[in-house]
Amino acid sequence: MARHTKIVATLGPASTELPVLERMVHAGVDVVRMNFSHGTAADHIARAESIREASARAGRPVGILADLQGPKIRVGKFADGKVTLARDAEFVLDATCTLGDDKRVGLDYPDLPQDVRSGDTLLLDDGRIKLRVEKVLGSAIHCRVKVGGDLSNNKGINRQGGGLSAPALTGKDMDDIRTAAKIGVDFVAVSFPKSAADMYMARQLMRAAGGKALLIAKIERTEAVANLEEILDASDGVMVARGDLAVEVGDAAVPALQKKMIRAARDKNKLTITATQMMESMISSPVPTRAEVSDVANAVLDGTDAVMLSAETAAGKFPVEVVEAMSRVCLEAEKSTEGTLERDVLNRTFTRIDQSIAMAAIWTAYHLKVKAIASLTQTGSTALWMSRLNSGVPIYALTPEVNARNQMTLYREVYPLLMSQLHQDRDVLLWEAEQILLDQGVVEFGDLIVLTIGEPIGTSGGTNTLKIVRVGEHHAPGHSD
Ligand code: PGA
Ligand code: MN
Repeated sequence: MARHTKIVATLGPASTELPVLERMVHAGVDVVRMNFSHGTAADHIARAESIREASARAGRPVGILADLQGPKIRVGKFADGKVTLARDAEFVLDATCTLGDDKRVGLDYPDLPQDVRSGDTLLLDDGRIKLRVEKVLGSAIHCRVKVGGDLSNNKGINRQGGGLSAPALTGKDMDDIRTAAKIGVDFVAVSFPKSAADMYMARQLMRAAGGKALLIAKIERTEAVANLEEILDASDGVMVARGDLAVEVGDAAVPALQKKMIRAARDKNKLTITATQMMESMISSPVPTRAEVSDVANAVLDGTDAVMLSAETAAGKFPVEVVEAMSRVCLEAEKSTEGTLERDVLNRTFTRIDQSIAMAAIWTAYHLKVKAIASLTQTGSTALWMSRLNSGVPIYALTPEVNARNQMTLYREVYPLLMSQLHQDRDVLLWEAEQILLDQGVVEFGDLIVLTIGEPIGTSGGTNTLKIVRVGEHHAPGHSD
């Protein structure tokens, strides 16, 4: 049984070498995340090439997600890469400082001194370190360490309660969108959007640069939670960005928000990625904690499209093992929900022909207990609609478009496969589809499958036909008996 939930793995120093990448893809990575908070355009271009090479070698499609830095306020770099901050020590944040030490560090957001005042609480590195602002002198924010610990290069800074004025897209993000378009990434994640307008702006920039990436809004600000519906409408999906979100809204509010976001996204035919600290202990340990296993399993039960690894694969000691562990946990969690089509299928409303076919196909496949759905698609939208209703029936999305195939790597229950081309002859096409499923070992002769197809063949958005076939009943093209 193939895994339904997808795995997103962040790349970094621990996962740069091609052999490691290849093993990670073998272990089950569906989408890799390139964190644009680190590295240059040339680094990202080189990394994308390695990913495509690893994907080709492993014989598995891998989507590429470019995660923009956004106005995340981060500390600069330290002379020694990291420092240890002691409780009650004085520590200064100052944009003019170039290389930090245990007394002061730089900032990538020179306006921060205007946004904070004495008495504010600043949380560093997803809240691990707590500073209290004592005074602001020019560009320098003088703080007292309330909770100390290790602090390394480029860790994030949040103000408790949110409300920083920075716009979602910085100048660097705009350049990075162009780089992402040039690389041809499949997804772009926008950090810290506050409203739909931020997403429209990102989409405009992406289009202008000739990119086709799907846009993911990272929900990690108090304002974004309030504007969730409009942000969803303006995006292709959302990331439950639990790291910053927990700091802004309080950690205890996050589990319920995760469920709410996943539900709301599915209802609007959007994608979801559940992110941050999912297998955090595996940065240094070869096995996850019980709590991490439960967290990953619960995200699967919530219906997320994908679960994400951050430092675990970017900087951890076990970048391959953590993917294996996550995959194992997803598979087991999926078994417990298999075969219960969500009741809300009855409440779905739709007016489009292709969407009607998608709904009919899922309903039919579920009740006939077919082995698989084969969806011949140009854009992947039929597969997306079908995958919004957990039916437990795997959806094999056959497409001639590399772009569509790579984007579908994120869709839950969807297995994207490349077809050589959409032949004009319908019978040849259906025969080829069956052969691909047979070759993949997902069906045998005599199995029932549900097929969706657009006639005439090859028009985008043209799915209008639902067909139920027994594998092997098609005659090989050219035979007339
Ligand atoms: P980040 O986003 O890792 O880029 O901060 C994820 C999160 O905030 O959870
Ligand atoms: Mn974040």
